Amino acid sequence: MRIVVVGGVAAGMSAASRARRHNPEAEVAVFERGGEISYGACGLPYVIGGDVPDLGDLIARTPERMRGQGIDVRVRHEVTGVDAGARTVTVLDREAGGTRTEPYDRLLIATGVNAVRPEWARTDLRGVHVLRDLADGRAILASLKGATCACIVGAGYIGLEMAEALHSRGLRVTVLEKAPEVAGRMLDRAYQQRVRAELERHGVEVRCGTSVEELVGENGHVRAVQTDHGPVPADLVIVAVGVKPNTALAEAAGARLGETGAIAVNTRQETSVDGVYAAGDNSESLHCVTGQKVHIPLGLTANRMGRVAGVNMAGGEARFPGIVGTAIFKTFDLGAARTGLTQTEAEGLGLDAVSVDVESTDHAGYYPTAAPIFVRLTGERGSGRLLGVQLVGQPASVKRVDVVAALLHQRGSVGDLFELDLAYAPPFSSVWDVLLVAADRLG
Ligand code: FAD
Ligand code: NAD
Repeated sequence: MRIVVVGGVAAGMSAASRARRHNPEAEVAVFERGGEISYGACGLPYVIGGDVPDLGDLIARTPERMRGQGIDVRVRHEVTGVDAGARTVTVLDREAGGTRTEPYDRLLIATGVNAVRPEWARTDLRGVHVLRDLADGRAILASLKGATCACIVGAGYIGLEMAEALHSRGLRVTVLEKAPEVAGRMLDRAYQQRVRAELERHGVEVRCGTSVEELVGENGHVRAVQTDHGPVPADLVIVAVGVKPNTALAEAAGARLGETGAIAVNTRQETSVDGVYAAGDNSESLHCVTGQKVHIPLGLTANRMGRVAGVNMAGGEARFPGIVGTAIFKTFDLGAARTGLTQTEAEGLGLDAVSVDVESTDHAGYYPTAAPIFVRLTGERGSGRLLGVQLVGQPASVKRVDVVAALLHQRGSVGDLFELDLAYAPPFSSVWDVLLVAADRLG
């Protein structure tokens, strides 16, 4: 049994480790086109911002360590083709040069996503970056030297985290977003506005409803971003306008893509091609609240899909049950979290949704560190089905989103939420936690 894994980060390395553990007889090979494997891309903004000292701190396992565990990891090796009939892949050695053909019995495509680069961002100007991997992180750190003003294009997850990071490095930061508000894909409008207010409170200039026309350079270095509302000075530009699933190899293998554009997989992470699996950011998942296929590329999903694929490729039986749309991020002193559906998303799906907003403190108001927390709880009118929650408050306080995520997995109701025995002591919550207050009002 020879298992070949393409991509050596979250999904790929979870799969390789699991496969090896499940079937120690299996030969497992991992091809990674980059120079490192098994690192936490999620930590990149915190190294760039200076909270985490070194990019190396993000690396969980090295190729040497994996080889010691019997997994043949080859970095700087790019898989450039798949012949699903012959069960072979073509591998380009990016260091030594030359290609060779490698056989497989089971193949996992764990190739992640590519950062979207609009036409204006395809430039040779120095100081212009996307942020996907360690190499991008290294390049951004190098560009920080001497930089004074940064422009971040896109106010999604990466844009919002990088606004804080670059501000922490003393740069003047402008965020340009083409949508009417920041955090548009994650939160309802009122909660988006709270996020923008936090950026502005720290002196970040936020320009929504703004389109970039071109980048202006001088002596090979970026100097400004030209927008439809005039130029914005910038000697560092982060392009964070979204991602696209990296499906090239799956398509080469003849695997079906789903309507989302990501790779269609079943609950065993099998693609439509026999012996070919896919996992991670490049794959669709089932949204357990809507029953629809979605492409929501996040870290836990990638690790979990990889684990499932690894067990199945090694001859075991594992299933990925799906997701409920849980996400969380921090910008400056504000955390924002959501799970399930927002009111806007529920309405977009034609659901008869109703929401309540509760403004309270994240723990007993008399306890010294109490801070405001805002909760929007959404349910289905009539049935009382729980649909989702959004929280904005101190970063640690919004992690209570997980309570609602757990209930969504159990297809719980607003009434079920109200009945929960949640932990209480003044430093942690009010006796009636804000989630219970919201459930009571909505129920
Ligand atoms: P990736 O991590 O993208 O790995 C895919 C690998 O495949 C890459 O290393 C690539 O080089 C390799 N590859 C591609 N094509 C080939 C080929 N043909 N041959 C060989 N190798 C190939 N998620 C969260 O849930 N929470 C967070 O806070 C969070 N923060 C993030 C912050 C940043 C800056 C970024 C970039 C992402 C963040 N994410 C976060 C997303 C999370 O990192 C991803 O969901 C996760 O890394 C996906 O893992 P993956 O293995 O599917 O893909
Ligand atoms: P994103 O989809 O979260 O946000 C992209 C933003 O760019 C959107 O607000 C969009 O309206 C805007 N945009 C699109 N085109 C634009 C243009 N031409 N000009 C200006 N704005 C434009 O994507 P991202 O921030 O690039 O992050 C990519 C992925 O990384 C996310 O989907 C997520 O999977 C992952 N991520 C997650 C976290 C987290 O969970 N905390 C953190 C960082 C990254």
